[in-house]
Amino acid sequence: MDDWQNVIRKRDFPMIARGNCRGKSTVYLDNAATTQCPRPVLWAMEDYWSLRHANVHRGVYCLSARATEALEETRQLTADFLRVSRDEIVFTSGATDSANMLAEAFALGELKRGDLVLATEMEHNSNLLPWLEACRRTGAVLELVKIREDGELDMEDLYRRLEKKPRLLAVTAVSNVLGTVNPLSQIVSSAHSAGAAVAVDAAQAMRCDLPELKSPDCDFLFFSGHKLMGPTGIGVLYAKAEWIDRLPPVRYGGGMLRELRIPEPEYESGVGKFEAGTLNLSGIAGLGAALEYLQVVGRRRIAAYERELLRHAEERLSSIDGLRILGAPKRRSGVLSFLLPPLQAYDAAVLLDKKGFALRSGRHCADALHARLGISGSVRLSPAFYNTGEELDRFGDALEQIAALSRTVGAGKHG
Ligand code: PMP
Repeated sequence: MDDWQNVIRKRDFPMIARGNCRGKSTVYLDNAATTQCPRPVLWAMEDYWSLRHANVHRGVYCLSARATEALEETRQLTADFLRVSRDEIVFTSGATDSANMLAEAFALGELKRGDLVLATEMEHNSNLLPWLEACRRTGAVLELVKIREDGELDMEDLYRRLEKKPRLLAVTAVSNVLGTVNPLSQIVSSAHSAGAAVAVDAAQAMRCDLPELKSPDCDFLFFSGHKLMGPTGIGVLYAKAEWIDRLPPVRYGGGMLRELRIPEPEYESGVGKFEAGTLNLSGIAGLGAALEYLQVVGRRRIAAYERELLRHAEERLSSIDGLRILGAPKRRSGVLSFLLPPLQAYDAAVLLDKKGFALRSGRHCADALHARLGISGSVRLSPAFYNTGEELDRFGDALEQIAALSRTVGAGKHG
């Protein structure tokens, strides 16, 4: 364990350091689902609730002004994190909410019957279903770009489909099942040459420190705070300035109205038009603290360490007899999914839980991907920077025991 990692583990992540749940040993390896909040994030939220709670924008009094400043500070921090303008950052309740808002706005303002929208076979349902529904509502057509056996996006298939001049391509930066890091720069420039806008799901990508996600070329990008050491219930939708101007609002209410004219009201022009109602202000305080935390620990250091952890896990798991790792992409980040036949994914996860390892089984909300691979589910390992190589070694040993046991039982059944 590196020194810095030892320090942050003990100091900042009580659940990880304690390593047990109801008295039972637990190594948390489900960070693709959600990450733990470090203490500074918890303090920021407590500070907000105990000393700063007031609604924003609407008050002239000091507390309200201070709450507004705090909100705008987090908007700036988020913009700095992505190296974009603060006028391009919309707060939502999470990645799913961002994608739904975007698809609704696209359906309302952009899509018409016969238009084509592309998503990919490796999309999380959150970057697929909103587009499917937008297409159903408008009479547009959704097609899925294929993936290859190795878990890479099939670029030839993408280029072929781009020739049909789609209006938008919805693509994930990192697959939440295979860990594939998609070649975003190449994808975005090809899509733009074909006249398509690009919506990037960065839910799994924000800790990877990808150069493509700094001053991104894409038109839209979204993520959730809770996969980034922040709290649940807060997310971000980045939209390029021209899209902020161009897209219509899809939620209506307080804070987004400029002038009430009936029947044609005038709405705010900037990001405010997408932020109707009271935002999740403590979540925003937590998100701001999480972004600062990642900066202080070091985004590059975190990304490098997590890459090394995953490489270590891949090496260990590859040595287990009968275990099949899904995909073999050139660049893998954050997650590694596998099968341990003849065990079902669910059973493997239950046995792993009994041995003290918390990780997820199922389709991970990536139904198109599992259908494409012809499997009903997988087990997903997703370590974060507070995990250690030693924990992964123990995990590998546990898997080996489970694999050996399942072989014996399987042999017994057939013998
Ligand atoms: N996209 C991807 C790639 C994800 O992994 C997730 C979370 N599993 C989401 C979108 C949805 O995130 P949330 O549930 O926080 O809205």
